[in-house]
Amino acid sequence: MGEARSTGVGNPGVGSRGVGGTRVTSARFDLPTPDTSTRPFWDAARDSRFLIKRCRACGRAHYYPRPFCPHCWSDDVAWEEASGRASLYTWSVVHQNDLPPWPDRVPYVAAVVDLEEGPRAMTNVVDCDFESLRVDMPLRVAFRAADYDVTLPVFRPA
Ligand code: ZN
Repeated sequence: MGEARSTGVGNPGVGSRGVGGTRVTSARFDLPTPDTSTRPFWDAARDSRFLIKRCRACGRAHYYPRPFCPHCWSDDVAWEEASGRASLYTWSVVHQNDLPPWPDRVPYVAAVVDLEEGPRAMTNVVDCDFESLRVDMPLRVAFRAADYDVTLPVFRPA
Protein backbone atom coordinates (compact mmCIF):
# COMPACT_ATOMS: atom_id res chain seq x y z
CA MET A 1 0.00 0.00 0.00
CA GLY A 2 3.02 2.22 -0.23
CA GLU A 3 1.74 3.92 -3.33
CA ALA A 4 -1.13 5.35 -1.37
CA ARG A 5 1.13 7.17 1.03
CA SER A 6 2.43 9.87 -1.21
CA THR A 7 1.35 11.99 -4.10
CA GLY A 8 4.62 11.21 -5.81
CA VAL A 9 6.30 14.44 -4.88
CA GLY A 10 9.27 14.12 -2.61
CA ASN A 11 9.26 11.46 0.05
CA PRO A 12 6.59 10.64 2.54
CA GLY A 13 7.37 12.05 5.94
CA VAL A 14 9.04 9.32 7.89
CA GLY A 15 7.53 8.89 11.28
CA SER A 16 9.54 8.29 14.40
CA ARG A 17 8.96 5.85 17.16
CA GLY A 18 9.78 6.27 20.80
CA VAL A 19 12.14 3.94 22.58
CA GLY A 20 10.81 0.83 24.23
CA GLY A 21 8.16 0.34 21.61
CA THR A 22 6.16 3.40 22.57
CA ARG A 23 4.71 4.75 19.42
CA VAL A 24 4.80 8.48 18.82
CA THR A 25 1.23 8.97 17.78
CA SER A 26 1.88 12.23 15.98
CA ALA A 27 3.99 10.48 13.35
CA ARG A 28 2.42 10.85 9.95
CA PHE A 29 3.12 9.06 6.75
CA ASP A 30 1.17 11.13 4.26
CA LEU A 31 3.32 14.23 4.15
CA PRO A 32 6.23 14.82 1.84
CA THR A 33 9.29 16.66 3.06
CA PRO A 34 9.82 19.86 1.09
CA ASP A 35 13.45 20.64 0.33
CA THR A 36 15.13 23.43 -1.57
CA SER A 37 14.56 21.77 -4.94
CA THR A 38 10.84 21.25 -4.40
CA ARG A 39 10.08 24.34 -2.29
CA PRO A 40 8.65 26.35 -5.23
CA PHE A 41 6.19 23.52 -5.83
CA TRP A 42 4.93 23.57 -2.24
CA ASP A 43 4.79 27.35 -2.10
CA ALA A 44 2.68 27.37 -5.26
CA ALA A 45 0.40 24.62 -3.96
CA ARG A 46 -0.35 26.74 -0.93
CA ASP A 47 -1.53 29.39 -3.40
CA SER A 48 -3.65 26.81 -5.24
CA ARG A 49 -1.31 26.66 -8.20
CA PHE A 50 -0.11 23.32 -9.54
CA LEU A 51 3.44 23.35 -10.87
CA ILE A 52 5.12 20.84 -13.11
CA LYS A 53 8.50 21.05 -14.80
CA ARG A 54 9.26 21.26 -18.49
CA CYS A 55 12.56 20.45 -20.15
CA ARG A 56 13.98 23.14 -22.41
CA ALA A 57 16.17 20.59 -24.19
CA CYS A 58 13.51 18.11 -25.36
CA GLY A 59 10.34 20.08 -24.62
CA ARG A 60 8.64 17.40 -22.55
CA ALA A 61 6.95 18.03 -19.23
CA HIS A 62 7.43 15.86 -16.18
CA TYR A 63 5.95 15.31 -12.75
CA TYR A 64 6.83 14.88 -9.92
CA PRO A 65 9.29 17.74 -10.28
CA ARG A 66 12.94 16.73 -10.51
CA PRO A 67 16.13 18.73 -10.99
CA PHE A 68 16.72 16.94 -14.30
CA CYS A 69 14.57 15.70 -17.17
CA PRO A 70 13.61 12.01 -16.80
CA HIS A 71 13.27 11.76 -20.60
CA CYS A 72 16.62 13.09 -21.80
CA TRP A 73 18.50 13.72 -18.53
CA SER A 74 19.08 17.38 -19.28
CA ASP A 75 19.19 19.60 -16.22
CA ASP A 76 17.77 22.50 -18.23
CA VAL A 77 14.32 22.21 -16.68
CA ALA A 78 11.98 25.01 -15.65
CA TRP A 79 8.84 25.35 -13.57
CA GLU A 80 5.57 25.73 -15.41
CA GLU A 81 2.05 26.16 -14.07
CA ALA A 82 -0.08 23.23 -15.17
CA SER A 83 -3.63 23.64 -16.45
CA GLY A 84 -4.90 21.47 -13.61
CA ARG A 85 -6.82 19.32 -16.07
CA ALA A 86 -6.24 15.58 -16.06
CA SER A 87 -7.93 12.31 -16.87
CA LEU A 88 -8.21 9.24 -14.71
CA TYR A 89 -5.83 6.45 -15.73
CA THR A 90 -6.31 3.95 -12.92
CA TRP A 91 -7.30 3.92 -9.27
CA SER A 92 -8.03 1.80 -6.28
CA VAL A 93 -10.29 2.43 -3.35
CA VAL A 94 -8.20 1.93 -0.23
CA HIS A 95 -10.16 0.52 2.69
CA GLN A 96 -7.31 -0.21 5.04
CA ASN A 97 -4.09 1.62 5.74
CA ASP A 98 -2.58 1.32 9.20
CA LEU A 99 -0.18 4.24 8.91
CA PRO A 100 -1.25 7.56 10.47
CA PRO A 101 -3.26 9.53 9.52
CA TRP A 102 -4.85 7.14 7.08
CA PRO A 103 -6.91 5.03 9.52
CA ASP A 104 -9.03 8.15 10.04
CA ARG A 105 -9.43 8.71 6.31
CA VAL A 106 -10.31 5.38 4.80
CA PRO A 107 -11.87 4.68 2.45
CA TYR A 108 -10.11 6.94 -0.04
CA VAL A 109 -9.15 6.80 -3.69
CA ALA A 110 -5.50 6.30 -4.59
CA ALA A 111 -5.19 7.14 -8.26
CA VAL A 112 -2.88 7.58 -11.20
CA VAL A 113 -3.94 10.41 -13.48
CA ASP A 114 -2.73 11.66 -16.84
CA LEU A 115 -2.08 15.39 -16.70
CA GLU A 116 -3.12 17.36 -19.75
CA GLU A 117 0.54 18.28 -20.26
CA GLY A 118 1.49 14.61 -20.55
CA PRO A 119 2.97 13.41 -17.27
CA ARG A 120 1.33 10.65 -15.28
CA ALA A 121 0.89 11.49 -11.60
CA MET A 122 0.07 9.57 -8.44
CA THR A 123 -2.52 11.38 -6.38
CA ASN A 124 -5.86 11.04 -4.64
CA VAL A 125 -9.28 11.62 -6.14
CA VAL A 126 -11.59 13.36 -3.71
CA ASP A 127 -15.22 14.49 -3.58
CA CYS A 128 -16.36 11.61 -5.72
CA ASP A 129 -18.78 8.73 -5.63
CA PHE A 130 -16.50 5.67 -5.89
CA GLU A 131 -18.99 3.93 -8.16
CA SER A 132 -18.92 6.80 -10.62
CA LEU A 133 -15.19 6.56 -11.33
CA ARG A 134 -14.39 5.70 -14.94
CA VAL A 135 -11.21 5.36 -16.95
CA ASP A 136 -10.48 8.59 -18.82
CA MET A 137 -13.01 10.60 -16.84
CA PRO A 138 -12.02 14.28 -16.71
CA LEU A 139 -10.58 15.58 -13.47
CA ARG A 140 -9.61 18.93 -12.12
CA VAL A 141 -6.91 19.71 -9.59
CA ALA A 142 -7.90 20.73 -6.09
CA PHE A 143 -5.81 21.50 -3.05
CA ARG A 144 -5.95 19.96 0.36
CA ALA A 145 -4.16 21.59 3.27
CA ALA A 146 -2.44 18.70 5.00
CA ASP A 147 -0.79 20.74 7.74
CA TYR A 148 0.57 24.21 8.32
CA ASP A 149 3.38 23.72 5.84
CA VAL A 150 2.10 21.33 3.22
CA THR A 151 -0.81 21.61 0.82
CA LEU A 152 -1.29 18.57 -1.37
CA PRO A 153 -2.60 18.67 -4.93
CA VAL A 154 -5.46 16.21 -5.32
CA PHE A 155 -8.06 15.79 -8.05
CA ARG A 156 -11.82 15.78 -8.20
CA PRO A 157 -14.29 15.07 -11.00
CA ALA A 158 -14.31 18.00 -13.43
ZN1 ZN B 1 14.33 16.52 -21.70
